[in-house]
Amino acid sequence: MEFSQQLSTTPKSDEERAAVLANPGFGDHFTDHTAVIDWNWTHDGGRWSNARIEPYGPIALDPAASVLHYGQEIFEGLKAYRHADGTVWSFRPEANADRFNKSAQRLALPELPVEAFVESLKEIVKADRSWVPTGDGEALYLRPFMIATEAFLGVRPAREVSYRVIASPAGNYFGGELKPVNIWLSTKYARAGRGGTGEAKCGGNYAASLAAQLEAEENGCQQVLFLDPFNDDAVEELGGMNVFFVFDDGRVVTPTLNGTILHGVTRKSVIQLLKDRGLTVEERKFTLDEWRRTAANGTLREVFACGTAAVITPIGQLKTAEGDIASPALAADSVTLGIREELLGIQTGAVADKHGWLTRL
Ligand code: PMP
Repeated sequence: MEFSQQLSTTPKSDEERAAVLANPGFGDHFTDHTAVIDWNWTHDGGRWSNARIEPYGPIALDPAASVLHYGQEIFEGLKAYRHADGTVWSFRPEANADRFNKSAQRLALPELPVEAFVESLKEIVKADRSWVPTGDGEALYLRPFMIATEAFLGVRPAREVSYRVIASPAGNYFGGELKPVNIWLSTKYARAGRGGTGEAKCGGNYAASLAAQLEAEENGCQQVLFLDPFNDDAVEELGGMNVFFVFDDGRVVTPTLNGTILHGVTRKSVIQLLKDRGLTVEERKFTLDEWRRTAANGTLREVFACGTAAVITPIGQLKTAEGDIASPALAADSVTLGIREELLGIQTGAVADKHGWLTRL
């Protein structure tokens, strides 16, 4: 797909950009450009057209655009990492493209060819290369998304859709040094249900998680853990991360993908890296009960969360209305920190990419 280029005539000055890059935070600042591709319904299935790079700025939407009423929207999140030689790389972008298309199917949006998805990332990084941070643990967060723009209030899949990518320099998601996070167990709210949209990366899932997130913050926690109350309180995932449990005998357990959990790209990669180390990975049902029991009898050694934004983060405590479950202090040779270092190393070019996960942007 050929992208036309309409570059910004008012990009941020070198000083403004340097000020942002000196302290990027997460999701607060955006680059000078956006990648866009339009989609229109046709009798033979629809057509993508007008792929372009244009200046970053507000989108003109008809007030009747169906995304504003029925939330027909999906998105992705991945990072562009700057290596020591200055080159810029993404981590398994085809996996994000595949997940984007699965989300599209669930939300009755058009699928975007994987090559066009990867090309759009290359194009925005080409236009905004100077925005890719160089600092330790920093990257350019890429946010592809697709919205239903057709002005029509009937409830049916929209016939006009817009695909876009924006980019935002990102530092450490939880801010500052790596330290264990506390998470709040949500029992009042569920994130997903069988047959619902839990497996899709759609805006509605995140809107629905916000009340639980507020409850977490009121209880001094940074993230929420969701259970499946219709499946023996099986652990599902956090608001924006998957979870892993490491045992004293080298087994590692993570909840199985049963339709209500997001298929994390980090999760999939961590499973591979754990297996490379000869550890046994069990993708299975893991209940709150088992968590309590194994934490109490000392066989549970480590609990960590993983996702693109926060990479791998140790979980210190699960706080619940019925008492807390604490994880033991992390040993210097912990699986959590070892895998974190290896994964970050692959992403940033310090460790050999033996699985061929990197794509140059
Ligand atoms: N679960 C949820 C609900 C998420 O939003 C994310 C972030 N995309 C993840 C898990 C982790 O997925 P990934 O490793 O692909 O970032």
